[in-house]
Amino acid sequence: MSTTLALINANVRTMNPQQPHAEAVAIRKNKIVKIGTNKEVSQLTDKRTKVINLEGKTIVPGLIDTHVHVADFGRCLLWLDLTSASSIKELQRLLNEKAKQTPAGKWIIGRGWNETRFKEKRSPNLTDLDHAVPENPVILYREAAMICAVNSRALSLAGVTQKTATPPGGAVDRDTQTGRPTGIFRDTATNLIWQAVPEPTADELVDAAALGCRKIAEAGITSIHWILISPGELEIVKRLHADGKLPIRVNVIVPYELLKETEGFRSSDTAMLRIGGVFITADGYLDSKTAALTQPYKDDPGNCGKMLLRKIELATSVEQALNLGFQPVVHAMGDKAVDTALKVIEQTASDRDVRIRIEQAAVLNQELIERLKVGRIVVSVQPTVISTEFAVWSAVTRLGVKRAKLLHPLRTLINAGIKIAGGSDCPMEPLNPLLGMYETVNRASFPEQRLTAEQALRMYTIDAAYCSGEEKEKGSVDEGKLADLTVLSQDPTCVEAAGIRDIKVEMTIVNGIITSSGNQVICS
Ligand SMILES: [Zn+2]
Repeated sequence: MSTTLALINANVRTMNPQQPHAEAVAIRKNKIVKIGTNKEVSQLTDKRTKVINLEGKTIVPGLIDTHVHVADFGRCLLWLDLTSASSIKELQRLLNEKAKQTPAGKWIIGRGWNETRFKEKRSPNLTDLDHAVPENPVILYREAAMICAVNSRALSLAGVTQKTATPPGGAVDRDTQTGRPTGIFRDTATNLIWQAVPEPTADELVDAAALGCRKIAEAGITSIHWILISPGELEIVKRLHADGKLPIRVNVIVPYELLKETEGFRSSDTAMLRIGGVFITADGYLDSKTAALTQPYKDDPGNCGKMLLRKIELATSVEQALNLGFQPVVHAMGDKAVDTALKVIEQTASDRDVRIRIEQAAVLNQELIERLKVGRIVVSVQPTVISTEFAVWSAVTRLGVKRAKLLHPLRTLINAGIKIAGGSDCPMEPLNPLLGMYETVNRASFPEQRLTAEQALRMYTIDAAYCSGEEKEKGSVDEGKLADLTVLSQDPTCVEAAGIRDIKVEMTIVNGIITSSGNQVICS
């Protein structure tokens, strides 16, 4: 049988140290059958083979995102994007356009406005929004803050009047003379309006998630770990698969609290859709000082954060995940949470042939690093989250220099032989895996923890595949592996470190099928 697809004149970065580079790849159906020179691959083609000359572009193994919330991402994509609006006039134009495509009476939800970017240097008010959209209720969230702007139709549907009390922890901007709301709601007061926005229908949710999956394919990603958040999301994944709307492979990670929803789950094609893990939350986050530490926060001496599960509860959860055949994915941010998670793993899982994953493992010390190594634990991180956290609060102020030095010490972990998997945490952070790689290579805080581009690429390919125990099927460009490939405009290991985020995704191939090319998703 001839090859179905041949990619020639490429710079193939295989991620296989035995054969790191090649010129061409031959694919038969869903498998890679040959890696080699243009001549070697051309010998396997005939008139039925689709041959693509990549003209020097770079092929890397299909990129894997180990932490994405697809349902929420899809919903965000349906919202009107206002980040480009440079004036209230422009915002009105965008709104007006959206209203023309929206059925009468249906809510218009937008996000991303920022009055500091507006020519008028003020927030949009009721009159501005009424003028643009009189018929549909409108709610527009500001960028990077819990503030929304609404129109009169939204106010009346939400039943908010001059007499409505302001909820604790919130603020309603009012006209100084009349006391009437001006249309700007802050913090908890935003719920006064949001509670009136109807929940999307099941069909709308499926369409939104399908859109999310298409965008993921366009970003060069061939496999994702879909971290479920809400009840009912598993149904959405199943429907997408049944309707042929999954252009990417999905490994579902189910929160422990929703484990019941997996009962009776059967996948007809586990290579494309499977439940892989159970998300178990051991503690909170450093930004809210809820991550569990052994010593108090430096900027809050009475506070050590707190464990959300007692050790016995954590052990029960891990054991249950293992007994169901799922990978335990333990969110442990602070050193106390990591220590407790490791104790549980050492007691319950050390004799089992299963890959255990700790999400974050942020605050570490040499002893914990050694135990992560001995336990062959995979550490899963989201590099843009790390950068955001370092940018928002100073790690040194919060933790002191000694602990901050070993906060997300990616280089130290890799030097110790620990595998790190990369993800985005989209939609909380941008989806782009090249941005994630860029962040690890260009890290600003404690630059001694910067990775090489090669190490960064491993996080999104072979080590991400290892994270879910799939390194024999994917994660490198190797003969016999699944034909999941990403074509990039440039080689991330050859460009200047600062240029990694500007690399473009040219093509995404999943299962030997071109699912996205030139930002056009091709759905079967
Ligand atoms: Zn997340």
